[in-house]
Amino acid sequence: METADPSEQAAAVLAALPISNDFSELPPAFYTRQQPTPLPSPYLVATSAGAAKLVGIEPAHMESQAFIDAFTGNSVLPGSVPLAAVYSGHQFGVWAGQLGDGRAILLGELPAAIEDPPRKLELQLKGAGRTPYSRMGDGRAVLRSSIREFLCSEAMAALGIPTTRALCVTGSDARVMRETPETTAVATRMAASFVRFGSFEHWYYNHRHEELRILADHVIDRCYPALRNEPRPYQALLAEVTRRTARLIAQWQAVGFMHGVMNTDNMSVLGITLDYGPFGFMEAFDAGHICNHTDSQGRYAYHQQPQVGLWNCHALGQAMLPLVGEVDDVHEALAAYKPAYTETLDRLLHQKLGLESVEENDSKLFDALFAILQSSHVDFTRFFRQLGDLALDDPQSDQALRDLFIDRAAFDGWALQYRSRLRLENSIDAARCERMNRVNPKYVLRNYLAQQAIDLAQKKDFSGIARLLAVLEHPYDEQPGNEHYADLPPDWAAHLEVSCSS
Ligand code: AMP
Ligand code: MG
Repeated sequence: METADPSEQAAAVLAALPISNDFSELPPAFYTRQQPTPLPSPYLVATSAGAAKLVGIEPAHMESQAFIDAFTGNSVLPGSVPLAAVYSGHQFGVWAGQLGDGRAILLGELPAAIEDPPRKLELQLKGAGRTPYSRMGDGRAVLRSSIREFLCSEAMAALGIPTTRALCVTGSDARVMRETPETTAVATRMAASFVRFGSFEHWYYNHRHEELRILADHVIDRCYPALRNEPRPYQALLAEVTRRTARLIAQWQAVGFMHGVMNTDNMSVLGITLDYGPFGFMEAFDAGHICNHTDSQGRYAYHQQPQVGLWNCHALGQAMLPLVGEVDDVHEALAAYKPAYTETLDRLLHQKLGLESVEENDSKLFDALFAILQSSHVDFTRFFRQLGDLALDDPQSDQALRDLFIDRAAFDGWALQYRSRLRLENSIDAARCERMNRVNPKYVLRNYLAQQAIDLAQKKDFSGIARLLAVLEHPYDEQPGNEHYADLPPDWAAHLEVSCSS
């Protein structure tokens, strides 16, 4: 029977969602069943229709109280088995021992309308209260960091970079203490799996090799079913995770994304971007830029990311040694990293420069470019976007681009090399520009844009998040009327600091 009341209808639809929880079928040592802790009077802060579509949730139902309650953790949807998973990890290069979902609660999974990653997407509430793994933490996430995670997840997806997705953010006036008191929020995120490198390390360092095998089998069955047919599935799993991690980091480098906290507990075995904290997009180019204010040593600086990705794969390889068997076989799997990284980055740089062919000296052209971007601290996103406007035979076409450089002569020198390289492949201006605009985004989540949306949200105006999301969902398009979202950061943003505090 049709229910007339839209909120009752939404409640009925949510109650009928086919939620299951495969993870809860793992042995009890893998997790603790944990109900979310309700928050007082929750309200909707943001929703992603794109993410909702992946799991068959209608945007109309996301406005309902039933939805808000379910995705704040104030009610439990039928079929869900809320739990917090255990994992360990290396933080800033040091073994940190047991960590685990200290404020994330896995509700279960829904069938997904996507092929890769496959079949099912898990839904996880982040900030839904304390768990046995909270250690000294309060189990909460603040509005500021939840908005950042929400926006960046969806922005990365639109850029075509593998990532967890964000379904929604709800908020409450309840406060928790960070540097100052801040209001709390719950972000719902989705991924085919939230298993981390640190999940494997957990069992290895606890000498529990049977659990290690069970975890590997779970990951293979769930995420990499084709690897079952390999002669050595565990070695193949390590190689595949290594390859995907390498490709992911090449994609980060190509778009100027910095994760900020590449600890092994924040590295996904799916090779997707996971755990958005003090991330940043490169603005004034500096290869050594550190986006995380807490990272005083610069371990996770932009130019360190490829190396750290490999270090993390080594940590995973160590943890998988009892499964793989021989040290040489672990090394063989890890050897996949460098070629996968180099090939991906090289391909992406060719695309970013609009080059269709591959020439022997291309890497010199790329190196020379990064050297001049560095010496003039040119805005990363803007440079590549405007590079598409350069016309082969029109010196006027790159005036605006040239103006981005303090050292104009250096730009002129490079532009000369670039033009002759383009002539070598008879490049056609219009076609090249079109191709370049499909890989060089105009709109990325600059810190100041996130901050403006956060400032408004802290005054209970959530419209800035929705507007920014709508822009970031089409990062490669020209968006007449939205050009100001591509503006360089204003002076006040020079002092914005993002840290691990979230
Ligand atoms: P992160 O640096 O956010 O990746 O978190 C590292 C570890 O600390 C993970 O085990 C988190 O679950 C935990 N954690 C971070 N913040 C909190 C919090 N407010 N309450 C409980 N646990 C937290
Ligand atoms: Mg984490």
